[in-house]
Amino acid sequence: MSGASTGTRVPFLDLRAVHVELREELAAAALRVLDSDRVLLGPELAAFEQEWARFTGAGHAVGVGNGLDALTLGLRALGVGPGDEVLVPSHTFVATWLAVVHAGGTPVSVDVSPLTGAWEADAVQAAVTARTRAMVPVHLYGHPVDLDPLLDVAARHGLAVLDDAAQAHGATYRGRPLGGLTSATAWSFYPGKNLGALGDGGAVTTSDDDVAQRLRSLRNYGSAEKYVHTEIGWNSRLDELQAALLSVKLRRLDEHNARRAALAARYTERLAGSALVLPTTVERATAVWHLYVVRTPHRAALRDHLGAHGVETLVHYPVPPHRQPAFAGTPVAAASLPGADTLAREVLSLPMGPHLTEEQQDTVIDAIESFRP
Ligand SMILES: *Cc1c(COP(=O)(O)O)cnc(C)c1O
Repeated sequence: MSGASTGTRVPFLDLRAVHVELREELAAAALRVLDSDRVLLGPELAAFEQEWARFTGAGHAVGVGNGLDALTLGLRALGVGPGDEVLVPSHTFVATWLAVVHAGGTPVSVDVSPLTGAWEADAVQAAVTARTRAMVPVHLYGHPVDLDPLLDVAARHGLAVLDDAAQAHGATYRGRPLGGLTSATAWSFYPGKNLGALGDGGAVTTSDDDVAQRLRSLRNYGSAEKYVHTEIGWNSRLDELQAALLSVKLRRLDEHNARRAALAARYTERLAGSALVLPTTVERATAVWHLYVVRTPHRAALRDHLGAHGVETLVHYPVPPHRQPAFAGTPVAAASLPGADTLAREVLSLPMGPHLTEEQQDTVIDAIESFRP
């Protein structure tokens, strides 16, 4: 093994540091809920929904139980149901695909480019059939998808666009925040996301009044009026406690995203001479660096080497959705998706988060520089 470990341990993400930084404010918010008699569908949710709608530039935000439900209810609210095909990228977290199935539709995978990892409009266009009802672009790793060409395809074929922004809180495209640029946008507030709760949470933003109203019904047993159920709904609500905590954390989101961007720039500058393929950014967009993902054909060896130097890394994601046992026997399992397979073999996520110090980052960079495949 080359190079002695400095003893600096570098965790992939230091969630505890966020909790330490915001301890007093989070505790005050939690106590406010504890001292109230409202724990669901109360003033904290209403306040957070308003803040989140304003932050994303959307007309409405509807809080739900988690990101998977945000995608599922979002698709249902946009009219996706049995018999409908929904275009999804081949390289994403499995939840993007699961949501289509839970909404009653059929996921149709469109491969990403093996070179850039991008979801290209030409390939999306080629996958449209008479049964296609919607598409779900995913702003993976915090990088906004180039939406305009996809919105053109959608407009040509009358498709709804639900973008999955579970990793892209605060990202912008052509100077505007994600969240109000499509039919609807799905968000996750899973603890490790750029904006994370202290448990599960999610939201859908939209500027369509009818879609927002439908979402409010779908998350609450398909009911807008107590004991009147106009459709088959879910129980999926963002609770008062999580909403109150999220309002506190939202005040720090821009600052935390700026810190991530500075660390990403530093990785990119210092690793420019390495053999790794570094992340590229989309023109006209601002990424929020949920993850800093490099690519290498020597991933296993590099991970071992970094681990021996105290550096924790993760793989997002080692098995693409079409190779998951859950999809075995479905048409999509037989699809040829070389882009997804290549990425699954080569991607490696380096430590990233608002509390990663430059000293810790130096440990990561030094360890990469001492790696010999
Ligand atoms: C986290 C995530 C989800 C699911 O969100 P949960 O809140 O964990 O259900 C969906 N899509 C993407 C891209 C994600 O990263």
